[in-house]
Amino acid sequence: MINVIGGGLAGVEAAWKIAESGIPVRLFEMRPKKMTPAHKTDKFAELVCSNTLGGKDIVTPRGLLKKEMELLDSIVIEAAKKSEVPAGGALAVDRDKFSEFITEKIENHPLIEVIREEVTELPKGEITVVATGPLTSEPFSKYLQNYLGEEELHFYDAISPIVYADTIDYSKCFWGSRYGKGGDDYLNCPMTEEEYERFYNALMEAEKVPLKDFERACYFEGCMPIEELAERGKQTLLFGPLKPVGLVDPRTGKRPFAVVQLRKENREGTLLNMVGFQTKLKYPEQKRVFRLIPGLENAEFARYGSIHRNTFIKSPKLLLPTLQLKKNPEVLFAGQITGVEGYPESAATGIIAGMNAVRLYKGEEPIYPPRETMVGALLNYITTADEKSFQPMNANFGLLPPPERKIKGKKERRKYLAERALREMERWLKELV
Ligand code: FAD
Repeated sequence: MINVIGGGLAGVEAAWKIAESGIPVRLFEMRPKKMTPAHKTDKFAELVCSNTLGGKDIVTPRGLLKKEMELLDSIVIEAAKKSEVPAGGALAVDRDKFSEFITEKIENHPLIEVIREEVTELPKGEITVVATGPLTSEPFSKYLQNYLGEEELHFYDAISPIVYADTIDYSKCFWGSRYGKGGDDYLNCPMTEEEYERFYNALMEAEKVPLKDFERACYFEGCMPIEELAERGKQTLLFGPLKPVGLVDPRTGKRPFAVVQLRKENREGTLLNMVGFQTKLKYPEQKRVFRLIPGLENAEFARYGSIHRNTFIKSPKLLLPTLQLKKNPEVLFAGQITGVEGYPESAATGIIAGMNAVRLYKGEEPIYPPRETMVGALLNYITTADEKSFQPMNANFGLLPPPERKIKGKKERRKYLAERALREMERWLKELV
């Protein structure tokens, strides 16, 4: 018997994978006895907000991820295809049909025992997948905090946008750290007073996503959005994330009026994180306003900024890429709680956790897909990112190792990466058999 805690996107994938491998599963789900602040039904895999699972084309990050999930026999993708509604290039679903399809499959599987109870501690001595999601119940969060360490579980994310490095105009920026400390760790985008004024006004006028009631406490946790800081006065940002102190623009020999700093997000340097730019601005507004920053006029965003109520663990410190807990390898984590962000991303990690729970049960070595695949790249990211600044991550092409040769054009490059990923996933799956 294997336990899965949480019947969301990740939990159903894990439970399904285990049961389909012929091993009995106990699936714990606290709804409807105890609801989260976002779920409205007692159905498994409820989509709590938008009804889209992202682009369909494999040259989009989520399109590629979903294709890989299909190769991994994902129940979420099967349900999405059965409940698809027209949405241009995106895979959108009728949310009720989607979760009803999954609920019926799960409840009728002879090897899945559904237990509608809140779990408040880990079962002892049994293989267990934890997939309790971004709104993990309070008692279980507290338990995990005790079990993993006070500092290792976060209750909010404060995400700054991430830009694809190859979409920046480097002629307008310079590398260097404040006062020369730390070498060339930061890319600095200097602003004149007029440029700052234009940026500031646009930021003040931009449309924001309203906070949900259960997210309000967030601001007391030191994750102040950049636009909120700006509202305190025009000078505030100049003493905060845009402070120019300790920096000299080599092109002018002078200290700029303001500086936006970007830091490498991954080892390859294909992704750059906008330091201190956590925000509640709507996505199109982020694109419009942040493109006013010199050097970012044509920037493409791998991840937009956000601030959410979100439970996630410090995976780079705690997890192996197989999703096993380092301190107790019989416990695996899956879904948003691992620090991936989004529906398909959460579901994909559920599949891998399910596969590895099965392997552990059979006494086999746990595994994970190659880094060239989107699933493998996500697992690699969440388990190797910088521990201190770790924040959730969605699927994006910057996570994949760059092409072995130079390929001109964004579309061509993505096509190459996507085809390579799918070849690698197929090869990996063949070798597993
Ligand atoms: P969930 O799908 O939330 O599943 C976790 C399950 O565990 C739930 O059913 C819950 O009831 C159960 N549970 C929790 N604690 C316990 C316990 N102690 N015992 C037993 N059961 C428990 N992503 C997108 O791609 N698009 C969006 O539009 C989107 N909107 C979001 C809106 C909100 C408000 C939130 C919080 C997140 C949103 N996300 C969105 C992020 C994320 O993709 C989803 O939350 C996704 O459902 C995560 O999958 P999961 O399986 O990790 O968690």
